Amino acid sequence: MILVIDNTKDLRTWINFNKKKDATIGFVPTMGSLHEGHITLTQKSKKQNTFTIVSIFVNPTQFNHKQDLIKYPRTLGADLEMLKPTGVDIVFAPSVFEIYPKGNHYGADINLGGLDKYMEGAFRPGHFKGVAQVVKRLLEIVTPDRLYMGQKDFQQFTIINYMLKNLKINTKLIVCPIIRESNGLAMSSRNVRLSPETKEKASVIYKTLKAVKKYQHTKSITELCQYGIKKLSVKPFKPEYLTIVDGHTLHPITDINNSTYAVACLAVWADDVRLIDNIILKNEI
Ligand code: AMP
Repeated sequence: MILVIDNTKDLRTWINFNKKKDATIGFVPTMGSLHEGHITLTQKSKKQNTFTIVSIFVNPTQFNHKQDLIKYPRTLGADLEMLKPTGVDIVFAPSVFEIYPKGNHYGADINLGGLDKYMEGAFRPGHFKGVAQVVKRLLEIVTPDRLYMGQKDFQQFTIINYMLKNLKINTKLIVCPIIRESNGLAMSSRNVRLSPETKEKASVIYKTLKAVKKYQHTKSITELCQYGIKKLSVKPFKPEYLTIVDGHTLHPITDINNSTYAVACLAVWADDVRLIDNIILKNEI
């Protein structure tokens, strides 16, 4: 049986009682409405740690649009069923007050090294301030040895990694690969809002990313981006951006040959649902 804890005090009591010398805690922060992507993060944590804690918390401070927050799927019962076979030790499902007892803006001003200026940050002002704020707060409560995040949110894990180093937080970030539907669509909690037809047609997103990767040596960056945007501009999709960036700085790059870590990132609207995805073009590390 999974132990579900909804308050910080009980969680701290459990951790202090159970975390003996040499035991490690793996932590998977989520906003619920779980899918295979979340489950693989949890399984990886289970393999690498004595205890695994999954949080389910729809963080209000990272939403720019009230409607998006309201429409965000909340499915705690189904989430617990999905988590059962993973053997997760604790699901932490706190209220907003437990996370922000001093108000939603408390502790939001975290230095993100300018990494929040690009891509998602440009189109969703304040989003990463909210993400960093909630992750920092959750790390204070859970005090994990390892933190598990998905490559799906490339800019997010890059920013969190910066925060961990900058604030000297003693937690190691483990990034896990993108889990996809059989047609290539990256799994996302928002996919449940897509119609079956749109979901099927959304295979164009990963096809575009794979084509960009294929042509990276024969087209310039400008040509690659134009090509990708054109390929994504088919009904009902509306691309918001397709950018090729340096994987460390997230700055758009002008020449892949001069880069050691190049990533193509995109956001696309599918009707009223916003989807993001990315592909690593080159990583020489
Ligand atoms: P979310 O619940 O959307 O906030 O996501 C929680 C964590 O799951 C984040 O670290 C995401 O990057 C990760 N995640 C979301 N979708 C996927 C996916 N398709 N594959 C792997 N990880 C994912």
